[in-house]
Amino acid sequence: MSTITENVRAFYEKMPEFNPYGEKVTLLAAVKTQPVEAINEAIEAGITDIGDNHAQEFRDKYGLITGNPKRHFIGHMQTNKVKYLTGKVNLYQSVDSVSIAEYLSQKSAQAGVTSDILLEINAGNEDTKGGFSVEEFPRIYETLRNIPNLRIEGIMAMLPASQDETLLRDLATKIRGLYDGIKKDNADITVLSMGMSGDWKICVDCGSNMIRIGTALFGKRTYNQ
Ligand SMILES: *Cc1c(COP(=O)(O)O)cnc(C)c1O
Repeated sequence: MSTITENVRAFYEKMPEFNPYGEKVTLLAAVKTQPVEAINEAIEAGITDIGDNHAQEFRDKYGLITGNPKRHFIGHMQTNKVKYLTGKVNLYQSVDSVSIAEYLSQKSAQAGVTSDILLEINAGNEDTKGGFSVEEFPRIYETLRNIPNLRIEGIMAMLPASQDETLLRDLATKIRGLYDGIKKDNADITVLSMGMSGDWKICVDCGSNMIRIGTALFGKRTYNQ
């Protein structure tokens, strides 16, 4: 058995099936830079959801992926590349500005579809990451919740790359609070996507129901292609 298959199986073994809120936890494979063969092997081993970061990479690999997994887009969205995604992405996780939401709304209307989205939160307010701050999130949500041709299904959160478990727990708990706040009166809200290879345990513990894992499934990424 090769490493990816083993990694996927081992991950399903160790991750809890449900978070403390009783919600099923989805394992999404973050597939940026991975060759098609590696992605298909992961799907063969049980992966049901895959997430891409780059629109062109997504387009180039799209038809080569086997097994019909659910497609997520988790990278920074650019208006001039949305055309590679519309009609193919099942969940846009990384809506990180009002303007990109408005653009996607317009394109979805033109295509006669409703697009499912998450609003991205940059929990540590890091300059290198996209997303809304925890503070501005409630206002942004109210602005976007009735935008035509988009359906907000929840939150995608990025935590800072930190070893400080207390800090990570505080942030993850705060984000779960925001999630519960919007879930209260909106039945569409079902996804809290939070957690990567380094922090997924803490995130699931604090109420994440979707984790996005790259390195722990595929090994360290090489970016030199
Ligand atoms: C790459 C990536 C991941 C996975 O990161 P790993 O640390 O390799 O598990 C998760 N989410 C997003 C948005 C990513 O870009």
